[in-house]
Order: sequence, then C-alpha cells, then structure tokens
Amino acid sequence: MTTELAAPLLPVYARYDVTFTDGRGSWLTAADGRRYLDLVAGIAVVGLGHCHPAPLAAARAQLERLWHVSNLYWTEPMAELAVRLSERLGGGQAFFCNSGAEAVEAAIKYARRKTGRSGVVALEGSFHGRTLGALSVTGQPAKREPFQPLVPGVAFARLNDPQSLRAAAGPDTAAILVEPVQGEGGVRPADKEFLAAARAVADELGALLVFDEVQTGVGRTGTFFCFEQTGVRPDAVTLAKGLANGLPLGALLVAEEAAGGFQPGDHATTFGGNPVACAAACAVVDAVDEELLAEVRAKEELVRQAFPAVRGRGLLLALDVDRPAAGVVTACLARGVLVCTAGERTVRLTPPLTIAAEELEQGLAVLAEVLR
Ligand code: PLP
Repeated sequence: MTTELAAPLLPVYARYDVTFTDGRGSWLTAADGRRYLDLVAGIAVVGLGHCHPAPLAAARAQLERLWHVSNLYWTEPMAELAVRLSERLGGGQAFFCNSGAEAVEAAIKYARRKTGRSGVVALEGSFHGRTLGALSVTGQPAKREPFQPLVPGVAFARLNDPQSLRAAAGPDTAAILVEPVQGEGGVRPADKEFLAAARAVADELGALLVFDEVQTGVGRTGTFFCFEQTGVRPDAVTLAKGLANGLPLGALLVAEEAAGGFQPGDHATTFGGNPVACAAACAVVDAVDEELLAEVRAKEELVRQAFPAVRGRGLLLALDVDRPAAGVVTACLARGVLVCTAGERTVRLTPPLTIAAEELEQGLAVLAEVLR
C-alpha cells in the first residue's frame, strides 16, 4: 500500500492508507502502481465503471464547448437529461443539484411548498445526507445528536411497520420519506406491503410520498428506479450517486400528479444542471438499458450463490459478518479488493453494474477467503 498522504484536510473521514490515481472499468490503480478490484464503485456511484467511454466522450465533448452558464439560461444537456428522466419516471419534472443531500433538501422544501405543511415522516435507520435538513430526516441518533437543534417537525417510524408509520403521520405531514432499500442503514429493503401502506397514508393525508433513490436509483437495484419493483409509485424521487457516473449531480424528480409546488424563486443552486455533468448523465441514462439491467439481476444471483445470506437488491447487497466489518474491509484491501461497510458487522457490495462475472467471482472469492 502507499504511504498515507499528509494533507491539511479536516479529519471527517477515516481514510484507508491508499491513494488512487487511475481507474478503468472495475479496476483502480494506486500511486504505488498496485491494482485493486473495486467492489465499492465510490459507494454505488461509478455504475458504468471507471472512465466508461460513453459518459467520458460526452463529458469531454461538452468540456470543449461550454462549462457553465447561470440557471438564468437554458443549456441543451440539462434539457435533454430532464427529458430522459421524465420519460423514465413516466412523466414529471426535474430540479438539478449537485449531491444527494441537496436533492433531499429540495424534496423537503418542495413538499412544504406543495402542501403548505412542515412535517416529515422519515424512518429509523435511514440515511439522507449530512446537511442540516437532510440530517434532520436521517434516523440515526449518533449522527444527529452532536448537531442539535435540527429542523423541527420530523417524526421517525420503524421500517416495515405500517402501524408505526400511521402513528408518526398526521395532519401536518408534508412528506413521507422512504429509501426503497436503506443503504447506509445496513442495506435493508422496505417490503411491498409497507410501501403500499406508506402510499395509502400519504394519500389519506394529502402528503407527498418521496422515495430517496440516491443510492438505489439509476439501475443499481436491477431496474432504473428501485420503485419499479415495488408496485408503488411515489410522488417524487431523489437521485444522485450513479446519475453522472462520478461527476457531481443530483436531481429531484416530481411526478406529474404532484406538480405545481415550486414557483420561480423558490429554490436554486448555482451549479445545478451543470452542462458537463448533465452531458455525462445523458450518456449514463442511455447506457442503463434493459440489457444492462438484466445483467445486474444476473450478477445479483451470482452473489447470492456465493453468499446465500446476502440481502438487498440488484448490486446493492450486504452480508452480516461474525466480526467487525471494518476488519473484513481492511483484510480485503490488503488482498487487492475494495468492499465497504454498512454498519458495525455488515459488509456492503456495490460494484460497478458493468463488472464482468469473472471479476465479480474473483472479488467474492477473496471475500470468502477473508471470512473463512
Ligand atoms: N440519500 C441516500 C439514500 C444516500 O445513500 C446518500 C448518501 O449515501 C445521501 C442521500 C446523501 O448523498 P450525498 O452524500 O451525495 O449528499
């Protein structure tokens, strides 16, 4: 491994002692020349693999033409991406931003504006980001406590417990916010009955049902949106991570049924809809076709064969282990394979969707050897 870089950075990340300089497909190269098989993909970000030729060509061509104009004006890549995402959603409008947390912030503001209410029902164990608004709806006390007071009006219900959801919601609920599969919270899928109950409660109350698909979206779970597998259609969806294959881009998508919440001046961000990121994202959305999605589902099966106890959907998978997961991650890293954690004793696998079956098997063999 490389020697740790001494850099004047605020110490919010416990970084591993490795510095990456290059990436191609499912492989990363470190500063010392060592190659690593990447079963993390930037935590469900680099869905098409590192330096995939399609978003690379699109971003490069856009870089040669135009990097930025204000949102006072139109750009073609932003408009083209909005059309693509609206088609995938089955009708709706987009707001573009730069990250998952920002997409969640936009969703909260949108729901408040649309309903004239301020409450949010979120779930215990959820993760929606680190900005104050997104942290306020994140159901992990250890992350929230040091930063109190947070945004008021948030009630937490238990995942897959419709009773608890009904109890948490009320006449001031603007939004019910759900990850179809809790990612950071341990890769815990919401079951269909629970999501159907969330839909029913939102309809009864006139609240918006918002799915945070920042981690599950853009093909990660074997369909473009994870909600397509649930039989439940949300009013709004957040996307980020995989959307531009590693360039920063987030989106709030609002379905036609829930239109009309925002007026000019209600929300904005300088870099939102950046043409380079949007050009890359158009190429990503085009690449996440039925063929790739079928491959994702086939590779999920490969992982399930190797580790029958794995949970999750598509290539957002996790395995509970009988020891601290951090040690497993370090041992895999020492053997040239990147995996990550999703809790103290949970190892998470989020490889590129494009990973070759042989590469995946190679990585799984290393994980099995470490766990032996
Ligand atoms: N929402 C979900 C479901 C996430 O998994 C994450 C990040 O892991 C976020 C929001 C926050 O995204 P970002 O780190 O881009 O702000």
